[in-house]
Amino acid sequence: MLAGAGCQSATPTSRISGTPQPQVSWISIDQLAAQLQLTIVDQDLAMVTLKNDRNTVMLFKHDDGQFSVDGRLYGSVGHVLHDGTGFYVEPSLVSRIGEHLSQEPVLAASPRFSGSNRKGLIMIDPGHGGKDPGAISCLGFYEKDITLDVALRLASQLNRIGYRTLLTRDSDEFIELDDRCALANRFNPDLFISLHADSCETSSVTGYTAYVAPSASWRARQAAGSFVDTLEQTGIDSRGVKTAKFKVLMDTTCPAVLIEMGYLSNEWEAKRLRNVTIQQRMAKAIANGIQEFSATAK
Ligand SMILES: [Zn+2]
Repeated sequence: MLAGAGCQSATPTSRISGTPQPQVSWISIDQLAAQLQLTIVDQDLAMVTLKNDRNTVMLFKHDDGQFSVDGRLYGSVGHVLHDGTGFYVEPSLVSRIGEHLSQEPVLAASPRFSGSNRKGLIMIDPGHGGKDPGAISCLGFYEKDITLDVALRLASQLNRIGYRTLLTRDSDEFIELDDRCALANRFNPDLFISLHADSCETSSVTGYTAYVAPSASWRARQAAGSFVDTLEQTGIDSRGVKTAKFKVLMDTTCPAVLIEMGYLSNEWEAKRLRNVTIQQRMAKAIANGIQEFSATAK
């Protein structure tokens, strides 16, 4: 249960600057975190990030800045006061944030983590699964199987070189797009990478594409650029970086890239994408792209 607003109020010391609100009592950000059962995980001059195992809350620290829960903006933080040691908000913010926190685990299944976190956390999202086969190749096999095969190879490559990985699925099961996004927003990886394979009416169309959201961050564009370079190692042609409003790109708050690894409607590429040697090369190329992305300054 969440504590009600107004308890444990504190009166900050006289070093406070900002707009005085004489009728209002204030709580420190530590008290806010404690009342919401959240932990402060990151803080800079502009923003503070609080988390528990189900939710990520971000607060802008300026007067009337916004707050978000799991990547969605819900309103103003209200008045904010700063002193030399911290910042203070109105007690009503506890209940205004609290009503948006989910109390249930995002997914019933436990997340599929593997590897140590030496170089960071990469979330891998094999497209489709279960009742959703994705595209059906001209040779009769399904996109959902190719995306999973490459994802598992990619996870093992990344674990070997020092990344922790989190898969949205590691077997042939159906996962809603909303749940994939929620999982990303819950664990806030350094990069979210969704794997797919293309298909179209014209069998001569070929090539891989790295997609980012139209509003993508510089980091996401940087990652997409790295993949476009390193995927040349697969022998498949590049169609470059493009933008699209895919849900997994639009509704995730971390840098996110969706890779269409080639065309299943083209016989040559379909054969390559089913070939385990090429799948391994694809996983290696994506892992190299992630290393390139990690090496550039944040
Ligand atoms: Zn797909």
